[in-house]
Amino acid sequence: MLTALKDSYNRPIRDLRVSLTDRCNFRCFYCLPHGEPPIAPKEQMLSYEEIEYICDIFVELGIEKIRLTGGEPMMRQDIEVIIRKLAALKPKGLRDLALTTNGYFLPDRAQGLKDAGLDRITISLDSLKRAVFKQMTGVDVLDRVLQGLEAAKNAGLQPIKINAVVVRGHNEDEVADFAAFAREHDVKMRFIEFMPLDSGHEWSRDDVVSGREIRERISERFPLIALDVPRGSETASRFRFADDAPGEIGTPDGRRPDSHLPFFDSRTFIARCRTRRCIEKRNPRLHRGRRNKERTPSLHQRASVRCAIALDEFHWRLSSVAR
Ligand code: SF4
Repeated sequence: MLTALKDSYNRPIRDLRVSLTDRCNFRCFYCLPHGEPPIAPKEQMLSYEEIEYICDIFVELGIEKIRLTGGEPMMRQDIEVIIRKLAALKPKGLRDLALTTNGYFLPDRAQGLKDAGLDRITISLDSLKRAVFKQMTGVDVLDRVLQGLEAAKNAGLQPIKINAVVVRGHNEDEVADFAAFAREHDVKMRFIEFMPLDSGHEWSRDDVVSGREIRERISERFPLIALDVPRGSETASRFRFADDAPGEIGTPDGRRPDSHLPFFDSRTFIARCRTRRCIEKRNPRLHRGRRNKERTPSLHQRASVRCAIALDEFHWRLSSVAR
């Protein structure tokens, strides 16, 4: 019997994020450097057997939620197989299997993901305007992503979260429109702060739109009420609509509904995130080796693991990451 994973405050670690690939069919300017991004050779990618093997161990170590990410995870042709293998871990303690995607492949494959055992989905959507969407993502496929959202709804991949990175001069004038979208489609809208990933060296403090400004812009059209729920490891402050309309809003900062603390700005939160949340929450990123540093925010811990290593060695490696 393996000892449960704990952080340095002796709290159990429940969430795992697995990056399936560094490939993506979008070219979001805040994520990828200009030109063709460096990608890892295929032989360095974990096979689905290796992912299953590693996740099996993590579930035995107390992991209850697994989120599959990328790059764009649906660039993996075998993603349905991966999901089916991971869903088979539910009798062992896995409770939640989620996927973050840019939505491009969902129109044809959302039902297949659901049938394979996926529970929830998060779709990235930075603009509701075709020209702005194209400018921010590098691809002219807004309609297809919206079709993907519909397909996910029809497949029963609920609740659906929508992530939008807000960048001044690009889409900050759309936040109230996104709130209207959340009401219409009954989705959880999460606004993400433009962060200095430095991949394209395009970040500037002036381009950051604070959570307070996002809430103020939305409240002019749709008054919001903070949700009185424990925030836990959530990075977003969550709000419902005052008129009880469907949907939810999440912003990157604000007064914690479960806290007496005053407002703290997002810089403070990121500082906390860096030193506490990511260490506490422990979302190790699984790669065969360290690579592609410029695409990985320093906020995240990474576990460098190989396949087929002895269980004891793997456990020791995880323990050393948790310290
Ligand atoms: S932000 Fe997501 S969709 Fe955009 S390029 Fe990066 S991985 Fe692809």
